[in-house]
Amino acid sequence: MEDAVLIHESYDVDRLREDFPVLEQTVYGKYPLVYLDNGASSQKPKQVVETMEKYYYHHHANIHRGVHYLSQEATTQYEVARDKARDFMNAPHSREVLFTKGTTDGINLVAYSYGRKYLQEGDVVLVSTMEHHSNIVPWQIVCEEIGAKVVPIPINEAGEIDQEAYASMLGPKVRMVAVNHVSNTLGTINPVKDMIALAHQHGIPVLVDGAQSAPHLTIDVQDLDCDFYAISGHKMYGPTGTGILYGKEKWLDAIPPYQGGGEMIQTVTFEKTTYNELPHKFEAGTPNIAGGIALGAAIDYLNSIGLDRIAAHENDLLEYTTKALLEVEGMRIIGTAANKASVISFLIGDIHPYDAGTILDKMGIAVRTGHHCTEPLMNRFEIPGTVRASFGLYNTRAEADRLLEGVHKVVQLFG
Ligand code: PLP
Repeated sequence: MEDAVLIHESYDVDRLREDFPVLEQTVYGKYPLVYLDNGASSQKPKQVVETMEKYYYHHHANIHRGVHYLSQEATTQYEVARDKARDFMNAPHSREVLFTKGTTDGINLVAYSYGRKYLQEGDVVLVSTMEHHSNIVPWQIVCEEIGAKVVPIPINEAGEIDQEAYASMLGPKVRMVAVNHVSNTLGTINPVKDMIALAHQHGIPVLVDGAQSAPHLTIDVQDLDCDFYAISGHKMYGPTGTGILYGKEKWLDAIPPYQGGGEMIQTVTFEKTTYNELPHKFEAGTPNIAGGIALGAAIDYLNSIGLDRIAAHENDLLEYTTKALLEVEGMRIIGTAANKASVISFLIGDIHPYDAGTILDKMGIAVRTGHHCTEPLMNRFEIPGTVRASFGLYNTRAEADRLLEGVHKVVQLFG
C-alpha cells in the first residue's frame, strides 16, 4: 500500500502531458479537450512521432533485401524494434515475435493458419461472451468454411467469465480457446493464466487478445504460457497499422503461412515453393517499416515511465471516477468485476448513450458510445450500448471532474 502511494506521488502527469501536443487544444473553439477514448486509440507522444519523422527523413530504404548502407541501417532499426517487442512481452525468442497490422491482423493470421490446418468438421473454438468482434468473426469465418463452430463461454452479471462453466466446456472437440486479457467494454481483467493452464490440461492451445492489456499491464507470455498473444501498437501510444503477434515456435513452425509474397519464401519455382525461417515466414511483402520502428519508440516510452506506475495512476482515476459516478441518480455501471482496468462503461437511466455522448462531446469530452464492437456482450446485458470512458497515462483527476460535470449536464437535459 505504501508503495502504491509512493508510486502515485512520484507520477508527474503534468510533465507527461507535455509529450502529447494534441492534448493542448480546445475543441469547438472553447473547451479544453478531455480525451477519454483511449480504449479506441491512444494519443502519440512526441518521442514516437519524431522517431517516424527521423526515419523517413534520414533512414528509409526497403529492409532485409538490400546490401546497401541505408537498407542495412533500416533493417537493423526494424529488428531492434522487434527485440524491444520481445522484451516487452518477455518472449523467449525474436523469431516468435511477428510484426502485424494490429490485433485484428494477428488474430486473423492465427484463425486462418491454425484453423485451416487443425480445425475439422464438428470441432469447437471457445471464445468468451465479452470478446471484441475481432476475436469472434475471424473464427466464425474459418469455422463456417470447415463445419466447425464458435461457442461462447458465459459471463456473470459483474462481467466476469464464468470459470465453472468454462472448465465444463473444455473437452476433446475444443481445438482453441480465444479470450481477451482485458475487456475493452467492461474493463474486466480476465484470469488468463489460470484459464490457459486449464486448457493445456486438455491439450488445447490458447490465444490471448491483448489489445487492451498492452497499455496497462505487464505482459509476460512465458509466465502466462499462452500459445499466441496479439497486441495493437496504436492502443499503446504507438502508430496505427502496427502490432505484434507472439506465437510459440512449435505452433509457428507447424502452421502454414498466412499470406504469400516476397520475404516469406526461401526458394520459388513453378513446381514448389519453400518458406523462409521464422519470423519472416509470416511477414509477406514490404512491412510498415517506419511504424514498426516507432512502435519500438512507444515501448521505450512506456518503459521509461514504468507500466506499474502507469497502472497505479490509472487505477486511482478508475476508483475516483467510479465512486463519483455512482452518486449520480440512475447511474448503472456495466462491468463491475473485482479485477478491472481503467475502463468505465455506463448508462444513466433511460438516456440513450448516443445522446449522452453527444452532450459530452459538445463540452469537449471525448468518450465512446455504442456497442464497442462487442454486440454479443450488449445482447447479454440486453442494452443497446453504453457510454465508455477509458483512461490513459496522461489523464488527470481534473479531467475526471470534467466528465462528472458533463454527466450532470446530461442528467439535467435528458433525465
Ligand atoms: N480486441 C480488443 C479487446 C479491442 O479492444 C480491439 C480494438 O478496440 C481489438 C481487438 C482490435 O484491435 P485493432 O483494431 O487494433 O486491430
